[in-house]
Amino acid sequence: MDISIGRIRRPGYYVCTSEKTGRKRLHVAMWEQAAGREVPPGCVIHHLDWDKSHNTIDNLVCVTTWEHNMIHNPPSGYKGKCGRKLGYIIKKSRGLDTPPGLML
Ligand SMILES: [Zn+2]
Repeated sequence: MDISIGRIRRPGYYVCTSEKTGRKRLHVAMWEQAAGREVPPGCVIHHLDWDKSHNTIDNLVCVTTWEHNMIHNPPSGYKGKCGRKLGYIIKKSRGLDTPPGLML
């Protein structure tokens, strides 16, 4: 496949371009290839270590936008349970699956 990889300066995601899929964020393309499906509506691919240049499948997990908020901006009172480690907890139970109970 003909893939070229570049980087968007802001917000710092790598992008890749292929004839088949067009221009995509690299981490989304990586996850979709490994999972064998597209990212469902209402979901995002999160970098477990928050490093947008670390685009290996081990570092990526499909989360809902709500979960994503709880990881990046947990409300006060949830900081101990959520935040960065929540991503790892979700990844451990979910692997390459999509979030359960999604209304699609
Ligand atoms: Zn994230």
